[in-house]
Amino acid sequence: MVNVEKSFVNNMFSVEGKVALVTGATGALGCVLAKAYGYAGAKVFMTGRNANKLQALQDEFTAEGIDCAYATADPANVEEFDAVVKACVAKYGEINILAVCHGYNKPANILDQSVEDWQYIMDADCKSVYVVCKAVAHQMVEQGKGGKMVVVTSQRSKRGMAGYTGYCTSKGGADLMVNSLACDLTAKYGINVNSICPTVFRSELTEWMFDPESAVYKNFLAREPIGRLAEPSDFVGYALFLSSEASAFITGANCDCSGGYLVV
Ligand code: NDP
Repeated sequence: MVNVEKSFVNNMFSVEGKVALVTGATGALGCVLAKAYGYAGAKVFMTGRNANKLQALQDEFTAEGIDCAYATADPANVEEFDAVVKACVAKYGEINILAVCHGYNKPANILDQSVEDWQYIMDADCKSVYVVCKAVAHQMVEQGKGGKMVVVTSQRSKRGMAGYTGYCTSKGGADLMVNSLACDLTAKYGINVNSICPTVFRSELTEWMFDPESAVYKNFLAREPIGRLAEPSDFVGYALFLSSEASAFITGANCDCSGGYLVV
């Protein structure tokens, strides 16, 4: 008898009824993942620092029949983020999925960059991942039924770039943190922790790179076997996969999601 259950195969990608906490939900990728979790039947708790944007997202998603709520916080602030976890649990009773989608960059050559500016990037992109994952890990361990953490980092976690001593270092740290969190949390507590490492995708900050006539666009395209740059929706499949039972045997992975950037 071949050993695979039909019901497992039919339901393996489902996040129906799960509670998904999304950080950076006001961002280009965060709002898309938040809505996608909602469309997939999850209850969505959003967080970010911008209350007006979060309220607008809640209004939009609620009108679409998505069960969602939000609370504001700076993800690098322990007290503020602990309050987000409490608010999510007060609203939905538990947290099953964490999607870490916030991020920040202020490129500068090390010769021109202040230590304070570098530290700010490290706090925004690395310390915050620790704070967020720690708070949610405590909650998931208390719940006693495992969970899924998906951290959005970057291909810049694996390679340097001019002006990126803050961003590359913090994203590299976040990817290694994901490797280590898997060692801390998966075998003992059933919490899978993985990261998605994209190349450039469309956002307010990167829109200018999508001009087909620009040298930046042409350079990127030459390094993208897939033949185009990414849209935020390109990462929905990966996020749902890493949030569902389909990825039960995957943990500590820094997942390439770059349109083939690494193979050229
Ligand atoms: P956006 O810039 O669109 O938004 C990210 C969100 O992060 C913002 O809405 C903001 O929410 C929050 N944020 C901004 N600055 C800070 C800060 N200093 N501290 C804490 N939170 C902050 O990001 P994207 O959607 O483009 O990117 C999502 C993730 O993917 C990020 O981690 C990014 O580094 C990474 N990435 C992006 C790429 C791209 O091309 N766009 C490529 C590769 C990786 P609020 O103001 O509400 O707090």
